[in-house]
Amino acid sequence: MSDLGGMFEGLGVTFATMFAEPNTEFYPEEKRTLAAGYHGRHQLNRYADGLEKCIGCELCAWACPADAIYVEGSDNTDDERYSPGERYGSVYQINYLRCIGCGLCVEACPTRALTMIPDYEMADTDRGALIYGKDRLLAPLEEGMEPPPHPMAPGSTDEDYYRGAIGPVDGPEAAR
Ligand code: SF4
Ligand code: SF4
Repeated sequence: MSDLGGMFEGLGVTFATMFAEPNTEFYPEEKRTLAAGYHGRHQLNRYADGLEKCIGCELCAWACPADAIYVEGSDNTDDERYSPGERYGSVYQINYLRCIGCGLCVEACPTRALTMIPDYEMADTDRGALIYGKDRLLAPLEEGMEPPPHPMAPGSTDEDYYRGAIGPVDGPEAAR
């Protein structure tokens, strides 16, 4: 193609683009609707009465290919119980400078404590702020939940919790 032909071809692209529908995104003023099941940042979930699902087993940390998760497990006691199991995650951190969002940690979690939620607004200029601890990863308390530590539902076992047979604190006694 001659130089002149190439120039007109380029101008054609320019003119066609001038009249095309703009696809500019006006983030953050306008936010896109995310796909169902979008995997953003992680969340540590709770049971319906507020106890934590994490048992501090570290399987998520071992599954992580980016070495982004740090977990320390501690023993629950009768006086101070955070999860229905023997242990709970007393320290839980995810380093979002390392995380590649692969979701392998979620697959490895035996109690479905760890999921990924549609929250992607995590940019920061402070590297330290991108290491999330339990204070930011734990799911918020919903209606019917009590903040741990507190005892398990009367007469229940940890298996009742794992099977999802435990209801909210103020729910029907049979469901607890
Ligand atoms: S999503 Fe992947 S990279 Fe991120 S913490 Fe989980 S396993 Fe590690
Ligand atoms: S999030 Fe799941 S896999 Fe990770 S320590 Fe807690 S219970 Fe274990």
